[in-house]
Amino acid sequence: MSKLDNQMDKINQQLKAKGYKLTHQRAMTLRVLLENEQDHLSAEDVYMLVKKTYPEIGLATVYRTLELLTELHIVEKMNFGDGVARFDLRDDSQEHMHHHLICAKCGVLKEIQEDWLLELEQRVQREFGFTVTDHRLDFTGLFQSCSAGECKRGKDTKAS
Ligand SMILES: [Zn+2]
Ligand SMILES: [Zn+2]
Repeated sequence: MSKLDNQMDKINQQLKAKGYKLTHQRAMTLRVLLENEQDHLSAEDVYMLVKKTYPEIGLATVYRTLELLTELHIVEKMNFGDGVARFDLRDDSQEHMHHHLICAKCGVLKEIQEDWLLELEQRVQREFGFTVTDHRLDFTGLFQSCSAGECKRGKDTKAS
């Protein structure tokens, strides 16, 4: 079984456990999300990509599927400051959401999969009696390559 089939299978189990079926349309939407995991796609991006192999699908269906996956905590709806909601897959081997590094100039994004906040969470529990169930941590700044002028947006402006 390929990694993608494996992931599909796992999510199918998650859906089943909550009483949902992995319909063809849901499967197509999910496949696009999995295939482009690093890209943090918007609903429109997902729609355009699903349409390539499944032209009959409607934007509303894609929206509904993404909302359902968000409700079930299979994906997370993220906002990286550009006003567009983006969908990000959660890794079920990690209890908490992964961290993001975002270039302030071009928006290029990298993920840190490891949970670096465990110590901080324990401290919050100790000092506030507050149990952390999840968190989001997005760092905004500049990658070395971006400060060196290899920023995606830097290139764009130079070209125009
Ligand atoms: Zn992410
Ligand atoms: Zn950049």
